[in-house]
Amino acid sequence: MNNSGSALVVGGSIGGLTAAIALARSGIRTTVLECRETFEGRGGIGVDYRMLCEATGENPDETLAYIYGYRRSTSFNALYAWLAEVGSRVEWLDMRLGVDVTKVYQDDEKAYATTDSVELAADILIGADGYRSLVRSAVNPDRLLTDYAGFMTWRGWIAESALPAETPSPSDDLVTLGYGRQMLVAFPLPGLNNRDMAKGLRTIGFAWHDPTRTKLLEDVGCVADGKILRGLEMDMFPPGLKDEMIATTRRMWPTPWREAIVECFEQDLAFGTPIGNYLPERMSRGRIALIGDAAHAVAPATGQGYNSSVEDAIALRDCARDGVAGAAGPAAMAEFERRRLPAAQELVRWSRQWSRTYAGSH
Ligand SMILES: Cc1cc2nc3c(=O)[nH]c(=O)nc-3n(C[C@H](O)[C@H](O)[C@H](O)COP(=O)(O)OP(=O)(O)OC[C@H]3O[C@@H](n4cnc5c(N)ncnc54)[C@H](O)[C@@H]3O)c2cc1C
Repeated sequence: MNNSGSALVVGGSIGGLTAAIALARSGIRTTVLECRETFEGRGGIGVDYRMLCEATGENPDETLAYIYGYRRSTSFNALYAWLAEVGSRVEWLDMRLGVDVTKVYQDDEKAYATTDSVELAADILIGADGYRSLVRSAVNPDRLLTDYAGFMTWRGWIAESALPAETPSPSDDLVTLGYGRQMLVAFPLPGLNNRDMAKGLRTIGFAWHDPTRTKLLEDVGCVADGKILRGLEMDMFPPGLKDEMIATTRRMWPTPWREAIVECFEQDLAFGTPIGNYLPERMSRGRIALIGDAAHAVAPATGQGYNSSVEDAIALRDCARDGVAGAAGPAAMAEFERRRLPAAQELVRWSRQWSRTYAGSH
């Protein structure tokens, strides 16, 4: 009989799954509540494999395909699939998809997550619900929204085999290019099966930082009063924007990345992410704690958004080592905040500084 206690993790994306695996592997009965029915990641992410191994107890070297940039990069889908597979083998871990949490709260005994149909209780509750976190309402109720950093990132992801036939094969490495204030990071990634790395079978991703689109983001309702409300999908594009993006791509970026980006816009596979910073004043309150983007959203240039949630997962596990039942729950969460808050604040301050330098006055 396990008496280490129980945890609810709200948000079952890459940050939430990593923390859930770490907690469950240390003997805490952990339930992940994710509102999406299926995970659909788009694009790539640089991952610290050593820390991922430390958090999950599994070595990803042979089982999570990657390319080398300045460090290993993989696709969101491959990382998620890897975590889901590891999680499926972990005792004490229950992953529930299609569960939308509408409220969280706590009392002296437990923390609670409410959905339309059911209320769940556990000794601790972890908010891994991203930059628009609901769980923030229980930890930082006065600051619910993420600050807009003054720029956005155009992103896309396409199978290499879908590029026009005459396109030269993209390199094996990540490239970084500039055009005035526009910055492009483009890279090959594992194939659609999350494994293939041979030329022709890979996917191609890009992240194009653009500091000139604040008015667009405000006009379509992605940003208001300096806060981020949502991402920009192509079905929200005003008339003419798709053609403008294709023409701008042809003018700015070299082959073969140009072809990949044009195809992403042509095939409605591109999207925009308003970039934000969230400086945490707290990371826990009582039995409830925040991790990942919910706790400390940062700009992609730091390369640390997910990697810092892996550090959160390791710290959570270590702080919960003696269990979380009863009074041990709030004590473990307070210790987690003590360990992680200074580093998280430093990361966000660096990200804010980078954002100001890049995007201007925001
Ligand atoms: C262009 C770009 C490049 C990046 N590159 C890197 C990189 O190289 N390295 C790196 O470490 N990081 C990088 N990042 C950052 C990284 O992508 C994020 O930090 C990471 O995805 C955040 O993960 P998360 O699990 O905290 O949040 P999310 O991925 O946002 O997940 C939150 C989850 O919570 C679920 N959810 C939300 N509300 C509820 C609810 N009420 N009930 C149930 N479920 C809910 C959502 O459906 C979602 O699945 C990059 C980001 C960008 C934009």
